[in-house]
Amino acid sequence: MAIDAATNTFRIIVVGGGIAGLATAIAMRGPQREIIVLEKSRMNKEVGALLSLQPNAQKIVEQWKLKDIIQKAKPTAERQFRILDTKGNIHMNIDMDGKKYGADRMVYHRQDLHSALREAALSTELPGHPVSIVTAAKVVSCDCEAGVVTLEDNTTYQGDLIIGADGIHSVIREAVLEAGNHELVHPTPTGVSAYRLLVETANLSSKNVDPETFDPKRQATTLMMGHDRRVIMGPARNGDLLGLVGMVPDEHMHETSNANSWTTPGSLSKLLETYNDFPQWIKDIFAQAPDIALWQLRDIDALPAWVAGRCIIIGDAAHAMLPTQGQGASQSIEDAEALAAFFSSTTAKPTLPEVSLALQKVFEARYQRASLIQAYSRQQAKPATRKGSVKVTLNPAEFLDYNCKYEGAVQWLEQQKSREVQGQ
Ligand SMILES: Cc1cc2nc3c(=O)[nH]c(=O)nc-3n(C[C@H](O)[C@H](O)[C@H](O)COP(=O)(O)OP(=O)(O)OC[C@H]3O[C@@H](n4cnc5c(N)ncnc54)[C@H](O)[C@@H]3O)c2cc1C
Repeated sequence: MAIDAATNTFRIIVVGGGIAGLATAIAMRGPQREIIVLEKSRMNKEVGALLSLQPNAQKIVEQWKLKDIIQKAKPTAERQFRILDTKGNIHMNIDMDGKKYGADRMVYHRQDLHSALREAALSTELPGHPVSIVTAAKVVSCDCEAGVVTLEDNTTYQGDLIIGADGIHSVIREAVLEAGNHELVHPTPTGVSAYRLLVETANLSSKNVDPETFDPKRQATTLMMGHDRRVIMGPARNGDLLGLVGMVPDEHMHETSNANSWTTPGSLSKLLETYNDFPQWIKDIFAQAPDIALWQLRDIDALPAWVAGRCIIIGDAAHAMLPTQGQGASQSIEDAEALAAFFSSTTAKPTLPEVSLALQKVFEARYQRASLIQAYSRQQAKPATRKGSVKVTLNPAEFLDYNCKYEGAVQWLEQQKSREVQGQ
């Protein structure tokens, strides 16, 4: 289908082709819309790690009717959340009932989910025009009022709407904050570093563990808590892979982590030294991983603004958070749904006031919720993390409900307004 290049087309530029950017491009597809994703990489090297979509986000993706495409990403439903101590005693075993929240918590290999979202964005079968994805397109600046982004090679793209989904080191965040005369906000170390490992379960021989304590194929996330360090483990690709993330306070690391790369190699001997007090069977699993990646976890404080002129930031650019709640990608999917919802009546080229009004609604619906989840994710990594400005008073079970009982941005905004009226 050719796009009407005449003036009546709603032109949307998405900066960044990660989970947030691709999900938003899919959600925004529609007639009389041209969507261009500008991605700085060549998109051939997504990070090998597991990632979960919590029920709040999985529900949204299911509503997008991408079932056949998403199935190719081999989502693995997680049915339990288990907490063990370092002696292997089970402290908590929460059954995760998909029915309670309207969808299961699904675990994906990041590359699989990314490929599926890319396929959906480019598909000619879905409503609206296929998205154009331009790779090796690094955006270096943005004029928020004019809706113009400039690439490294000086090529410019103009849109009625610019969506900054360019991750934690966002260029578009700088432009939005500068346009509002706000101080720039930079990612800061949270005091925690993470090891990331993936092991094929077929190769796994963890001889000394009772399957009641730990079975790598069980559809469960298992958290083993030490005093100030932890390991989070769970299966993906229908149990063929086991993903492990070890989180350690920086001051107790035996090697130095790197904030700027997800792929810095870690050392097995240093990892084993750091987890010396953990059971032998878990150290045996560490030893079977072909690669160990290590990086320092950073997040950002809640921002004073997400919107300027024709521009909005979403995903990690707007609310990068620690992975303790597994909500980073899920909050990006919520952003995508919110944009689609508040622009749903925009069927042709919008005026600047129309764009501003819709963006303001997205911000109102998303800001408080994403900031609270960001603050709670930081709080959950204590004792290493510093205190944030947003106070969280809900207990973990209440917070799980808060996270997962989400039915989209329009309903959330209505509920938020009625809570404000009732003074809650
Ligand atoms: C250890 C760990 C585990 C995690 N586990 C989970 C989990 O279980 N569940 C979950 O929901 N989330 C998880 N997350 C978080 C999650 O991965 C992110 O929050 C999510 O992917 C959203 O990212 P994004 O698309 O906003 O940014 P990114 O994934 O960083 O994507 C940004 C994209 O923009 C591109 N880009 C950057 N700058 C430019 C530029 N100037 N011009 C053009 N393109 C640019 C980048 O190349 C990239 O493709 C985890 C994160 C970590 C660190």
